[in-house]
Amino acid sequence: MVNNIGRRLLDGLFPHHCALCGLRSGRDVPLCLACEREMPVNHHCCTRCALPLAPGNDAAASPVEVRLCGQCLQAPPAFERVIAPWLYGEYFAHLIHRWKYHREQYLTPLLAALWLQQAQRRGPVDLLVPVPLHWRRRWRRGFNQSEVLCRQLRASCPELRACRVAHRLVARRRATAAQSGMNARQRAGNLRGAFTVSGPCDNLRIAIVDDVLTTGATASALARALSAAGAGRIEVWCLARTPAPGV
Ligand SMILES: [Zn+2]
Ligand SMILES: [Zn+2]
Repeated sequence: MVNNIGRRLLDGLFPHHCALCGLRSGRDVPLCLACEREMPVNHHCCTRCALPLAPGNDAAASPVEVRLCGQCLQAPPAFERVIAPWLYGEYFAHLIHRWKYHREQYLTPLLAALWLQQAQRRGPVDLLVPVPLHWRRRWRRGFNQSEVLCRQLRASCPELRACRVAHRLVARRRATAAQSGMNARQRAGNLRGAFTVSGPCDNLRIAIVDDVLTTGATASALARALSAAGAGRIEVWCLARTPAPGV
């Protein structure tokens, strides 16, 4: 009896079930601590583009040490750096699929919280720029997940309240082909001239926001367009980074 009352009270306080294992989460987010602890963090990555690197013996390395992947050494990208704190493995793929394609929007605050808790070293920003979808794709999906994420980050984090969500600043000029299955060079070609910036960005500090970063080709193309419009420092904020091919 007492247990039942206690259970009902707890259900009222913590009504969520875990989106991964389906058990009661026991917290005010739909993810239990046990599942969260199993989600792989993108610790050992390129400090510029957040590409996961092969494990190295850097246990004693300073947290501000610079580690660059081959690609960033050869040709530094147009953005200052990517903050992608989680690895895109089965856990994140499941959460993002439900959020994006099944429109389970109760997951939005959880995803923003997962980003914020890991991304302590983000730079100051003036504008949050969601990666735009072409209008046709947005119309089919009904929403732009990057824009939803921008708004939630701003709502969840007091430090970001002064930022503007610039959801109309950039337009996707043409419907680029779906990029899955393309290599980095094909993606870059597919995206050439894909973005147009509709206003000046004079020295503004910008965070490009997206859900998952794969090769970084989309973020690079967008960063180049924003730089050409006068943007200052550009960071890329995304939830998760896919592993490098072969890692
Ligand atoms: Zn769970
Ligand atoms: Zn890199």
